[in-house]
Amino acid sequence: MREPDFTLSAGPTTASARTLAALGSPITYHYDPVFLEAFRRTEAKVGRVFGTENEIILMQGEAVLGLEAAARSLVRPGICVLNLVTGVFGKGMGYWLKGFGAQLHEIEVPYDEAIDADQVASFLDAHPEIELLSVVHSETPSGTFNDCSAIGPIARSRGVLTLVDCVSSLGGMPFDPDSWQLDLCVAGPQKCLGGPPGMSLIAVSPQAWEAIERNPAAPTDSFLSLLDWRDKWHGQGRFPYTPSVSDVHGVEAACDQILQEGVPASIARHETAARACRAGVSAMGLALWPKSEDISAACVTAIAVPDGLHHEAVRDHVRTRYGVMLSGGQGAGNLVRIGHMGPTASGLHPVVGLMALGQSLADLGVAVQLGHGVEAALSVLADAARKEAGG
Ligand SMILES: *Cc1c(COP(=O)(O)O)cnc(C)c1O
Repeated sequence: MREPDFTLSAGPTTASARTLAALGSPITYHYDPVFLEAFRRTEAKVGRVFGTENEIILMQGEAVLGLEAAARSLVRPGICVLNLVTGVFGKGMGYWLKGFGAQLHEIEVPYDEAIDADQVASFLDAHPEIELLSVVHSETPSGTFNDCSAIGPIARSRGVLTLVDCVSSLGGMPFDPDSWQLDLCVAGPQKCLGGPPGMSLIAVSPQAWEAIERNPAAPTDSFLSLLDWRDKWHGQGRFPYTPSVSDVHGVEAACDQILQEGVPASIARHETAARACRAGVSAMGLALWPKSEDISAACVTAIAVPDGLHHEAVRDHVRTRYGVMLSGGQGAGNLVRIGHMGPTASGLHPVVGLMALGQSLADLGVAVQLGHGVEAALSVLADAARKEAGG
């Protein structure tokens, strides 16, 4: 099959030209002073993207590595954990937590809804034995997000640590680990940062480190060890293992790109793309997957597939006939997703996604108001452009 014309997936997303160029940098010895400097610069830049004072650990593997490492580091057999489940990633975290020996409590809602922070507060009050709370900020397969700005302080004020999957929100949605009082946050470069898949970007609070130090089950001398990175790399200047040299350069470039734009501007760009996409979906006569726009993520728009059609068939049609790659729901339901992440959260990208999806559904026999959808999306984009131009 030919290459896609547009990758509008939910990540890995299209990498920026700057990222691609950096990925082609010379591969140096990892203890070459030039690479040591690049690694330290990249850590500092990731910290600035997170907007945190917490220690940054860069693990060398796609974000799932960082999430597993974080969970293993915090969980000891018998620890009581509250896991919030609003989708596939939250559910998966629960399997891990249980597998690592946690006594698992869950608040689970249908995968088109979000968690009510008040319910978290009552649950924690009723269960003072809980020491750790796990939450997915942007539940990408569902296209929803949970209000970590409320959940973080609820947990902290009760002495409960938080483990946060912010893989798809960092750089695309407001996220503030320090003022939201979040402890262990794991992000990925291949979503809203437009970087390469292959690293885990992790911010660890002092409280989380204390808990990890006290945890006899926390991995050490292991690929999954956060402690190794802190003690060997930050402590002694020795890498626990050889870093992914090219990915580090790619991540640095992705950070440069967003820091040059400004994190708030990047977030605003994602929000505009998301608003345009949602307006287009509704005007076309399709239904958004999330129950309400208030809980819709800015990095991806999830769209319910009309009755009688299967998301795989729709996606295949979009890809083969129109050269546009969309995402399915990874098991969250019969939905397709238009990603607007990093470079694709700009310009007419959302409109391209809407046109490809709308025309494909029309091809498949759905009555779609394609023109209305395009007009509605363009009108949001035109408004935003006018405001940006100051008119
Ligand atoms: C992308 C993503 C991850 C990483 O998972 P993959 O399936 O390996 O891409 C983890 N959590 C969330 C919320 C994500 O969006």
